[in-house]
Amino acid sequence: MRISEEKCIGCGSCISFCPVGCIVETNGKVSIERDECVDCGALRRADVCPTDAFYMPAECWFFAIWCR
Ligand code: SF4
Ligand code: SF4
Repeated sequence: MRISEEKCIGCGSCISFCPVGCIVETNGKVSIERDECVDCGALRRADVCPTDAFYMPAECWFFAIWCR
């Protein structure tokens, strides 16, 4: 999973919803620790982002389907 820098407003609403705690805030910017993210899609399904900033790029789908 990725966060669109253009869409994210840094509200922090998503941070506590990630089941593996891989969303971090640094200097007012929110990002995903890619090594920790398991591409579960929980945040998109929870619909917690006010700007719909989460997206799943093709390489994540490939990883989730073929490398797990
Ligand atoms: S896809 Fe899952 S593990 Fe990755 S950031 Fe979203 S909720 Fe967390
Ligand atoms: S909920 Fe959306 S807008 Fe708010 S910090 Fe998370 S990704 Fe950014």
